Amino acid sequence: MHDFHYRQDALHCEDLPLERLDKEQGTPCYIYSHATLIRHFQAFDQAFATIPHLVAFAIKANSNLAILRLMASQGSGADIVSGGELFRALRAGIPPDKIVFAGVGKRHQEIREALEAGILFFNVESSAELQTLNDVARAMGTQARVALRINPDIDPDTHPYIATGLKKSKFGIGADHAVETFHHAASLPGIRVVGVHAHIGSQLTHLSPFVESLQKVVVLIETLHTQGLPVQYLNIGGGLGITYSNETPPHPRAFAEAILPLLRQTRCEIILEPGRVIAGNAGILLTRVLYTKETGTKKFVIVDAAMNDLLRPSLYDAHHDIVPVRRLSHASEEVVDVVGPVCESGDFFARNRAMPQVKAGDLLAVMSAGAYGFTMASNYNSRPRVPEILVKGGDSCVIRARETFDDLVRGECIPDFLELGQAPPPSFPQ
Ligand SMILES: *Cc1c(COP(=O)(O)O)cnc(C)c1O
Repeated sequence: MHDFHYRQDALHCEDLPLERLDKEQGTPCYIYSHATLIRHFQAFDQAFATIPHLVAFAIKANSNLAILRLMASQGSGADIVSGGELFRALRAGIPPDKIVFAGVGKRHQEIREALEAGILFFNVESSAELQTLNDVARAMGTQARVALRINPDIDPDTHPYIATGLKKSKFGIGADHAVETFHHAASLPGIRVVGVHAHIGSQLTHLSPFVESLQKVVVLIETLHTQGLPVQYLNIGGGLGITYSNETPPHPRAFAEAILPLLRQTRCEIILEPGRVIAGNAGILLTRVLYTKETGTKKFVIVDAAMNDLLRPSLYDAHHDIVPVRRLSHASEEVVDVVGPVCESGDFFARNRAMPQVKAGDLLAVMSAGAYGFTMASNYNSRPRVPEILVKGGDSCVIRARETFDDLVRGECIPDFLELGQAPPPSFPQ
């Protein structure tokens, strides 16, 4: 459920007509609903109310400071994957003791910064990383709290690029080496083992992979316990999917009901790292039709947003609903490709999509763009990144300004030896 809906055929975010936001801010832009974000966070959090738990929002899904502040205000922690995300989480006011740090390639500097900040724990992905953590922590005269990320070898039945818990994936420590790695970790003086982590993938729409993965993890935790290595935390990762088109993912309540018995068995404090399920349907990308064009066999709707603004269709062949901001009751349907201006054939938002007929100047909303939308945006084709706007009731606030051309070249410089007016080298074609 989200708060983008039609009133008198005009698409609104909460109480604000998107046409008004277009007049004020122009297109393209990302628009997020405050009410949806809060409701999604609370639904997820409350589903686990009966056990000790911490929801650590996966901030790679949406890392705008205002969104993170909103999460902090709800009691959320943060799942981070880089020093930059640590900086954002702290800047937004997320308490360090609610921050967990995952990722297969943590650098020394990032580890130091996280230790200095006093994060809750590191989700460690390899023995080599354990050694580095140990060395950095000892050099600082401290210990690093760690949860070992286990790869339970589960097929989550999602897009291969976002499946992370298969044996062949780069994430985590193989289940067959898990126990020995825990013993090794416990023997390192700079390491304090506090937990087990398992995150098997993203956009999961069935319960069974979660349950199967947890069954394996519960056995592991029991084994560790009997071998004198009890753990305090079980981090079950994120991954719960959302409805982009006709998926029917479980509600957080059903998700919780399916796994609570297993979670209770562990007697651990549970860490949850939802990203998409909180933010995905809380945001849209607003865009304008620039041109329509017919070739021999196809009709194209060319819009002012592109793959650099929202990469998911190009990267994962992902589906996003695309709806008109002004709904016409008797618009005829046609089958079109919705594409952006970027010079790549992969720059599309929809292909062979049946949509109400549109014309140049019309506004369209690309739905379900609140997670892995802006955070994946780039400046490809020297396109300034678009603004992000947070709507609350009838009010709105630009929470990230549209980039300028000067932003595009910030940090670049032209060296003296390229100064204009110098004679070109002899071989230079005249
Ligand atoms: C990406 C990621 C998440 C969030 O995944 P969602 O599908 O957005 O819930 C959680 N934990 C880890 C370790 C991740 O890499």
